[in-house]
Amino acid sequence: AGQSIESNFLFYSEEMNQRAKEHLRIESELRQALQNHELQLYYQPKVSLRSGRIVGAEALLRWRHPLRGLVSPGVFIPVAEETGLILDLGAWVLEEACRQVREWRDVNLIIPPIAVNLSARQFDAELPKRVAAVLERHRVQPDQINLEITESLLVRGTDKVIDIMNQLVAMGMSLALDDFGTGYSSLAYLKKFPISTLKIDRSFVIGLPYEENDCAIARAIVTMAQQLRQEIVAEGVETAEQMAFLRELGCDQLQGYLFSQPVPAADFAAMLREGKRL
Ligand code: C2E
Ligand code: CA
Ligand code: CA
Ligand code: CA
Repeated sequence: AGQSIESNFLFYSEEMNQRAKEHLRIESELRQALQNHELQLYYQPKVSLRSGRIVGAEALLRWRHPLRGLVSPGVFIPVAEETGLILDLGAWVLEEACRQVREWRDVNLIIPPIAVNLSARQFDAELPKRVAAVLERHRVQPDQINLEITESLLVRGTDKVIDIMNQLVAMGMSLALDDFGTGYSSLAYLKKFPISTLKIDRSFVIGLPYEENDCAIARAIVTMAQQLRQEIVAEGVETAEQMAFLRELGCDQLQGYLFSQPVPAADFAAMLREGKRL
C-alpha cells in the first residue's frame, strides 16, 4: 500500500508540475501576444426578441497564436486572471473596442452599444477614471460601451464596489450582470447594485424547453428581472425552440449561434449594413 501511495504522489506532483509549466508558458506567450498584436476582438450580436434587430454586441477576446492557431479564451483568461495579466489584457480590450467604435463612427456606421467583459480584478477605485480617459481619447460616448461584470464581484460586494459602479453609471455607462444564476447572488441582494441588464447563463438555456428545472430557473430569472426593471439577455441560444420559449417568457434579447457566432469586426459591420434580422 505504501508503494501505491508513493506512486500516486509522484503521479500527482508530476501532473501538477506539468500544469505549472503549462501555466508559465501561457503567461509568457500571452505577454508577447499583447506586444505582437496576436490579440483580436470578435463581436457577437445581441438581437431584440421583439424587433428581431441587432441591438448590441459583445466583444470577445481571440488569440491568434502563430503556431497553435486560435487559442480559446477559456484557456488563457483563467491564466491571465491568476497572474494578474488580466489587467493589461482588460485595458487592451477596452482600448481596442473604443478604437473600433471610433473607426465605425468615422465611416458613419450606426452601431449599437458594444459590451466589454470586465474581470473583477479590474474593479478598483481608479477604474472610472481609466475608463473615462479611454472613452475621451477615442471620442466615444459612454453609452456606446456597456460593461459586463460577474457575480463574484457582487459577492465581494462592499460599499466600495457599489460606489465604483455608481460612478460608472453616473458617467452614462450601463452595467450587465454576466452568467447570471451560476453564482450566489440572491434577488434581494441584486437590488443593491446599479445593474440594468441580466444575462441568463448558457447552462440554463441549453435545456430549454425540455428540461423542467431549466425552464423553472429561466422563468424565475425573467420574472425577477422584470420586477427589478432589468433587461434580460439569454446567452448561448442555439435553437428555434429555445428562442420561442424565451420569447414567450418575455425575455428581451438573445445572443447565440442561432443568430450568429462571434465574428470579426468587418463581418459584424456587414451584418449591420445589411440590416440582418432574426
Ligand atoms: P462569456 O462572457 O460568458 O461569453 C460568452 C461565451 O459563450 C463566448 O465564449 C461565446 O463565444 C460563447 N457562445 C455564445 N453563443 C454561444 C452559443 O450559442 N453556443 C455556445 N456553445 N457558445 C456560445 P468565448 O468567446 O470562448 O469566451 C469565453 C469566456 O471568456 C467568456 O464567457 C468570458 O468569460 C471570457 N472572456 C472572453 N473575452 C474576454 C475579455 O475580453 N475579458 C474578460 N475578462 N473575459 C473575457
Ligand atoms: Ca460576457
Ligand atoms: Ca456570459
Ligand atoms: Ca457564460
